[in-house]
Amino acid sequence: MSADYDIAIVGAGAAGLAAGMALQAAGKSFIVLEARNRIGGRAWTDTESFPGIAFDRGAHWLHAAAHNPFVQFADNLGIRYNNRIDWSHRVLFTGGEKRAGEDLLRQQMNSLMGDLESCSEAGEQGRDIAFSDAMDASGPWHLLNRRVVHQITSHEPEDSSTLDYARYVDEGGDYPVEDGYGTLVARHASAIHVTLSTPVTQVDWSGRGVRIGTTKGTIAAKAMILAVPVNVLMAGGIRFTPALPADLMVALADCPMGVSEKFAVLLDRPIEGMVHTYGDVVDGPPVTRTFNLHVNPFGRPMLISHFGGAYGRDLIAAGERAVKAIALEEMAEAFGSGIRKRVIATTMTGWLSDPFSLGGYSHARPGRAASRLRFATPIGERIFMAGEHCSLPFFSTVHGAHFSGLAAAEKALALIA
Ligand SMILES: Cc1cc2nc3c(=O)[nH]c(=O)nc-3n(C[C@H](O)[C@H](O)[C@H](O)COP(=O)(O)OP(=O)(O)OC[C@H]3O[C@@H](n4cnc5c(N)ncnc54)[C@H](O)[C@@H]3O)c2cc1C
Repeated sequence: MSADYDIAIVGAGAAGLAAGMALQAAGKSFIVLEARNRIGGRAWTDTESFPGIAFDRGAHWLHAAAHNPFVQFADNLGIRYNNRIDWSHRVLFTGGEKRAGEDLLRQQMNSLMGDLESCSEAGEQGRDIAFSDAMDASGPWHLLNRRVVHQITSHEPEDSSTLDYARYVDEGGDYPVEDGYGTLVARHASAIHVTLSTPVTQVDWSGRGVRIGTTKGTIAAKAMILAVPVNVLMAGGIRFTPALPADLMVALADCPMGVSEKFAVLLDRPIEGMVHTYGDVVDGPPVTRTFNLHVNPFGRPMLISHFGGAYGRDLIAAGERAVKAIALEEMAEAFGSGIRKRVIATTMTGWLSDPFSLGGYSHARPGRAASRLRFATPIGERIFMAGEHCSLPFFSTVHGAHFSGLAAAEKALALIA
C-alpha cells in the first residue's frame, strides 16, 4: 500500500487537535478528518443564538485548573476566564421569590459533600460500586444530589462507578471561560489544517496501514488516530474491516457517554441584585422537584439550566417546547411571573441526538472501571485511540481529551519512526 499520509487523525475535538499539533511539531505528514463544518467537537462556543454573547453549548469550565494546560493557553491567547468563582456564589431558590438562608444552604452542601465523599471513599478503597450504593437515599436533599451526579457523570447514580470517580483528579478549582471554552480550544489549534465536513464512514485495516473511507473519497495512511466519541464508535457510525476487537467493544460499552445538555435563556436585562450565581430551584426540603439555574453568567442577561442522566433524557424526549415551558415555570417560581415577559430568545443543546457525539461524556459503569485501561492498547498496532474516554485521571474533560491526543500522537510517531 502506498500511503497518502503517515498518519490520519479522525475527529477534530480537543483530542484530535492536540494530536494534530504534536504531529505538525514533529514535521510528519498527516491529515485531520472532521465530520462537522467546525472544529472543537464538544467544546463549542455558540455566538449566533444570542448575538454578541458567547454561549458554550458544551464544555465551559477549566476543570482541575492545577493540571489543566488550557489555563496557560488561555493566558497566552488573552482569553478571559474567571478564577474567583466559589461555592459562596451558590443559591437555592425555594419558591415565591425566596432564597434559602445560609443555614439551609449549608445543610444542602453538607448533604451533597457527604454523598460525594462516600462515593470517593468507596472508590479509594478499591470498591467499584454504584454511586447509589454509597449515597444516602433517605435524606431530604437526595433528589438534588442525584441531579448534581447527573452533571458530574452524565449518568444516573445507579450507572456510575465509584472507582472511576475516585481516579478522577480534580485539583486547583474550576474556572468558567468568559470568552468561551470552545473558542479557546479552536484558537489554540488554529495553526493546523483540518479537513472539515468529511465524515469517516469506514476504516479498512485488513492489510498494511489503514484505508479510510469518507464521504469524499478514500485515504491511505500508515497509522490512524481515532479521536471520535465512545457512543459514535458503539453506534457503528464507522464500519471497521475487520470489525473492532470484541474486548474493545465491551470496554466501550462499559464506559458509555450519558446525557448532558443545557437550556439557555436570553433576558432583556440581568436578574437584579445578583452576581454570577449558580443555583437550583427547589420545592423543599424535602426536595421532590428541582430545576438547575445558572444566573447572570459574567453579568450577562442570561439563565442557563444544566440537566442530564435519565431526567435529561426525558426532557430531551419531551422536546424543546416542553423544556421551555418547564424552564419558564421554574424561572417564575424563582423570580416572579414578570420574568416571562423579559425573555428575548432561548436555545437548547442537542448532544444526544447529534450523530457525531450521541451523548454527554463517558463514565464507567459500576464494576467496570478497569475497562478504561483497554483504550490504551492500539488496534492492530496501527490504530491509536484518543478522546476524553481514554484519560484515567481526567476523563470527561477537555484537558483529558487533550492529553489523550498527545499520548496517541507519541505512540503513532514511535510506530512510523
Ligand atoms: C453539555 C456538556 C458540558 C460539558 N462541560 C464540560 C466542562 O465544563 N469542562 C470540561 O472540561 N469538559 C466538559 N464537557 C466534556 C468535554 O466537552 C469533552 O470531554 C471533550 O470536549 C471531548 O473531546 P474529544 O476530543 O474527546 O471528543 P469530541 O470533542 O466529541 O470530538 C470528537 C470529534 O470527532 C468528530 N467525529 C465524530 N464522528 C466522526 C466521523 N465519523 N468522522 C469524522 N469525525 C467524526 C466530531 O464531530 C468531533 O469533532 C462537557 C460536555 C458536554 C456535552
